[in-house]
Amino acid sequence: AKQRGKNTVQFYAPSMNLAAQRRSVVERRLRGALDCGAFTLHYQPQHDAAGDVCAFEALLRWTDPELGAVSPAEFIPVAEDAGLIVPIGAWVLNEACRQWAQWHREGLPSVRMAVNVSPTQFAREDFVASVVDILSRHGMAAWQLELELTEQLVVQDIQTTAAKMQALRDRGVRIAVDDFGSGHSALSYLMRLPVSTLKIDRAFIRDLGHVDGASRVVGAITALAHALELDVVAEGVETAEQLREVRGLGCEFTQGYLLGRPGPADQARATLLRIDGR
Ligand code: C2E
Ligand code: CA
Ligand code: CA
Ligand code: CA
Repeated sequence: AKQRGKNTVQFYAPSMNLAAQRRSVVERRLRGALDCGAFTLHYQPQHDAAGDVCAFEALLRWTDPELGAVSPAEFIPVAEDAGLIVPIGAWVLNEACRQWAQWHREGLPSVRMAVNVSPTQFAREDFVASVVDILSRHGMAAWQLELELTEQLVVQDIQTTAAKMQALRDRGVRIAVDDFGSGHSALSYLMRLPVSTLKIDRAFIRDLGHVDGASRVVGAITALAHALELDVVAEGVETAEQLREVRGLGCEFTQGYLLGRPGPADQARATLLRIDGR
């Protein structure tokens, strides 16, 4: 709080701590961000067991004129609470599919596009319709799209969640459970949902070689995924040692700084051009 003598105005209530102040500034700036085109997408490759790129994950980036670059880990939760995630999420989905279609038109090799979807966005009654609409608008094959949902959502309302997922799966859209293992989802739920992919939370990969039992956990999740006939992606693979280990544990798909950092569309395009020439 600003206090410069008796008559000065306090800009913030004294009870408002620094974190809350920052949050309210972020929220205020976020309100205008869509309209002024302050968002972009970066793309991070996913690799298969042969080391080939098999997908890109679209990751939202926000550079505000006042605040500079703000991490999605900070602004996504604010957008959720402020009710801004629905229009922002719609923009992300449309932009990722638009980009996919542009690469496709250029004759570049087609790899899947993975897009993060927030629980609030998924909960909207018109969510399935909006996905179908965006796919047809861009002429994108449904099976080239994978929606990443967190465990948090998966456990909320099993029947509605399952029905919506099934409607998407019926059209060919793939569903990934993101950050698997970080939350509290019951396996019984997972078995009842038509998901395609499990993404093992980065925390487990980070612990490999440091924390007793980490490799058994990663091995167990991988075995579980395979038992359910799901693809399994190890997230946050940063070292050759981690890559060797997750592959040894049977996890064929990987995503992480070691094999590819998130980058702007041009960087992803260059990656696709290299695939073309292999
Ligand atoms: P996420 O969906 O788990 O995305 C992966 C995050 O891990 C990304 O962070 C990525 O840059 C980072 N990452 C990838 N490889 C490595 C690695 O080897 N080491 C480390 N330390 N990190 C790695 P980012 O882009 O900062 O995004 C953070 C989170 O924000 C995402 O986590 C996701 O939950 C959320 N997010 C990002 N974009 C969107 C979006 O468009 N919509 C929604 N709803 N959420 C998004
Ligand atoms: Ca994700
Ligand atoms: Ca994740
Ligand atoms: Ca995450």
